[in-house]
Amino acid sequence: MRKKIVAGNWKMNTLPAEGVELAKGVAAGRSEVCSCVNFIVCPPFTHLSQVIETLKGTDIAVGAQDCATEAKGAYTGEVAASMIAALGCEYVILGHSERRQYYGETSETLNKKMAQAYANGLKPIYCVGESLDERKAGKHFDVCKQQIEEVVFNLTEEQFADLVIAYEPVWAIGTGETATAEQAQEIHAYIREVLASKFGAAAAECPILYGGSCKPSNAAEIFAKEDVDGGLIGGAALKAEDFLAIGKGF
Ligand code: PEP
Repeated sequence: MRKKIVAGNWKMNTLPAEGVELAKGVAAGRSEVCSCVNFIVCPPFTHLSQVIETLKGTDIAVGAQDCATEAKGAYTGEVAASMIAALGCEYVILGHSERRQYYGETSETLNKKMAQAYANGLKPIYCVGESLDERKAGKHFDVCKQQIEEVVFNLTEEQFADLVIAYEPVWAIGTGETATAEQAQEIHAYIREVLASKFGAAAAECPILYGGSCKPSNAAEIFAKEDVDGGLIGGAALKAEDFLAIGKGF
């Protein structure tokens, strides 16, 4: 049985006090959602600690939105995976399209970040997905395959067992445009096939999340698909009520 996951990517939103309130709201309503759903929240670095403290004693996990390529040293402004892990984070989002697009992250960068994450016991939520032009050109399968082959294929079997994949078509992120449930299933099944070509039966256990304007009104239809194991949620994760309602989509 694959894990069902609803992960919230808060991006560069919420001041510390607002983040704590949001986390309290999620914790307050958590019992209304099946305990079979694993919730993860990913606040900005500045209030990871406070959110972790707020969620102590709940089953809601916390993740960071990125980590450095290096272990430590003279890298002004960077945050090491060891620092994130020391706070009590369990997950780290890596390869989000906004990082690939605005900060030039490549497979080379991401291989280093993945290594840092695993070396410090963090479970990566590795994002893949195509742009609108790539989708229009029918290249979406190849793009996702390449993003997986160049990074995920370098993992050991043991590391792969802790990996979560998020398929996030760039054209659907923050745009209000959502992939149809059929489009999501088609590419999730393909991603699983690619993973199976390297990791065999273990691919059947890897959670693959859908991300891109996922909201309470469309979550159930998307999550009903066989190879969709939950969502990576941006905008709708900023309201506890909506985030929890997405969890009810299972
Ligand atoms: C995201 O950035 O991970 C995301 C899915 O954003 P949104 O839900 O706002 O489209």
